Amino acid sequence: MKPLTEPEIRAAFVNCTKGEASRLNVPRDLAEQPWDDLDFLGWRDPQAPDRAYLVAVLDGRPVAVALRSSGAASWQARRSLCSLCVTTHTGGVSLLVAPRAGKAGKQGNSVGAYMCADLACSLYVRGKKEVGTKLHESLTLEEKIERTVANLAAFVAKVMA
Ligand SMILES: [Zn+2]
Repeated sequence: MKPLTEPEIRAAFVNCTKGEASRLNVPRDLAEQPWDDLDFLGWRDPQAPDRAYLVAVLDGRPVAVALRSSGAASWQARRSLCSLCVTTHTGGVSLLVAPRAGKAGKQGNSVGAYMCADLACSLYVRGKKEVGTKLHESLTLEEKIERTVANLAAFVAKVMA
């Protein structure tokens, strides 16, 4: 993906207030992110580990989503498949919940999905980050990337619906 700047990322949040978007922690090392290998940039808030964020460019426009880890640790540990990149992990998948954009979110509606706990889906898909067990799949890298982007776009569409 094309590198994004901090102001672009802050302006792209769809499911938190402008105030929250201006205060949340954006990675300081944006210049060093492996943008060429990223379908989206995801990160954990170093000061609030239950908070996570992701930003992607969908239909040519940056879209960022604020996420929260679900507290349900015992049953989330059994799940091991990331719903975005379809990587299997042992204990490395989190249920992340996004408040829905706009009025629905203010009424407490949210959308949840199992995702790689470190949000490094793009790097797992490309084999730049290793996992213990690999699913044998006959998809090409290109197809896996397309699938990850399609899954992410579907998730973001649910948040914005
Ligand atoms: Zn993943």
